[in-house]
Amino acid sequence: MNFADLGLSDELLQAVEAAGYTEPTPIQAQAIPQVQMMKDLIAVAQTGTGKTASFVLPMIDILAAGRRRARMPRSLILEPTRELAAQVAENFEKYGKNHDLKLALLIGGVQMNEQVKALDDGVDVLIATPGRLMDLFERGKILLTGCELLVIDEADRMLDMGFIPDIEFICEKLPANRQTLLFSATMPGPIKKLADKFLTNPKHIEVARPATANTDIAQHKVMVSARKKRDVLRHLLRTDNVSTAIVFSNRKTTVRDLAKGLARDGFKVGEIHGDMDQTSRLAELALFKSSEINILVASDVAARGLDVKGVSHVFNFDTPWHPDDYVHRIGRTGRAGAKGRAFTFVTPEDAEAIANVEKLTGMAIPVFNLDGDDGADEAEREPAPERKPRRESRRRSESKPKREAEPADDLPEEDEPVREKPRRAPRSTARKPAERDPAPAEREPAGEPGEWNGPVPGFLGVSAG
Ligand code: ADP
Ligand code: MG
Repeated sequence: MNFADLGLSDELLQAVEAAGYTEPTPIQAQAIPQVQMMKDLIAVAQTGTGKTASFVLPMIDILAAGRRRARMPRSLILEPTRELAAQVAENFEKYGKNHDLKLALLIGGVQMNEQVKALDDGVDVLIATPGRLMDLFERGKILLTGCELLVIDEADRMLDMGFIPDIEFICEKLPANRQTLLFSATMPGPIKKLADKFLTNPKHIEVARPATANTDIAQHKVMVSARKKRDVLRHLLRTDNVSTAIVFSNRKTTVRDLAKGLARDGFKVGEIHGDMDQTSRLAELALFKSSEINILVASDVAARGLDVKGVSHVFNFDTPWHPDDYVHRIGRTGRAGAKGRAFTFVTPEDAEAIANVEKLTGMAIPVFNLDGDDGADEAEREPAPERKPRRESRRRSESKPKREAEPADDLPEEDEPVREKPRRAPRSTARKPAERDPAPAEREPAGEPGEWNGPVPGFLGVSAG
């Protein structure tokens, strides 16, 4: 199957070819015809499977017919973070270069005036994060009644970030006869409910990672004490054939310190976290993409879904608190057929967190043996957490509140800091908005029954090599 078989216009095919895509991914092959037939669609596929082009490409052809009207966007794409919104805009620019389409990007952290002006001139595609869109809507700067196509992208991330009530509010403002497309890596209960309420006779498509992807990410856990983490990271960065790496940390203070430390050690390193404004985040990402730096230290919110190709390594400097963050983090490597390696640092305090990751992914991550005395020596290594008696892990979870009472700066960051107050109380069905939690200790325990009922990420069953 190639792109021409999908009945896309010649102008579009040229742009796709220029972008270097030769073949549609499985999700694109299945989703594009549905979108073209104006069907509502639920498309479930793991991160990195090419969901963006599944809607961007057919939308470009659909929107080529018809004309813009002031303040009434013709289509709306909702994204959970500014970076993802910016990436979708880039996709429209890349594939829509032979079309006359006007885009507006409505995201927090940038001046509102220009965004409003773009809207006034009329846009074909409005790409927005829910918070900023709600702001403008409530100020009467925008009308959604002319919006005939709605895309809810990265729906499970929206849920994580507490955006479901906002999305419901927005859906109610759109015409009822619109076309709605929902994309997600997983389908937890609240997302199913949202789809039931706001999609009409949706076509369901679900795509597993291609079998070849099974060996695309070699995962390891590195048993290490907290004070040895930095040494071990430096050691691995120097010895594991790292060409490009993203180093994830759970806290933005760690992101900053780590980036500083690595720079002092002569690494070409950048950082990306929620305290940085949009411009500096994108600038840092551009340096990474252009290979001026090859190591990016990142927090989850800032890095979520970032479209960075060819990352050879992902380091989880901290074991993620949420197991699904693990899946998203390691999804930065081994994308689109490229091989990747993922290392997760596990301290004794991370016993519960890593157990949750392994429960979710359905596999025990092989322990990486650090050789020699360069990193952590044998004595430093901790026993594998899964061998710990149950009791102990219980106790750990009970002691969490104290342990995690960090200074304010150490809290998990929020996206969309421009939004002052939630408009509505979160629904009881929605998961607690993880990224807005006052403290990690108050989060629901990860991996509760019913929390993850999307496809078992089979691609995580990977080699130790
Ligand atoms: P998702 O939204 O499913 O996580 P993206 O749409 O961000 O995935 O795409 C992941 C990566 O795959 C991007 O780098 C994108 O450029 C690339 N990609 C998408 N479609 C194709 C294709 N047909 N051929 C090759 N690469 C592709
Ligand atoms: Mg995506």
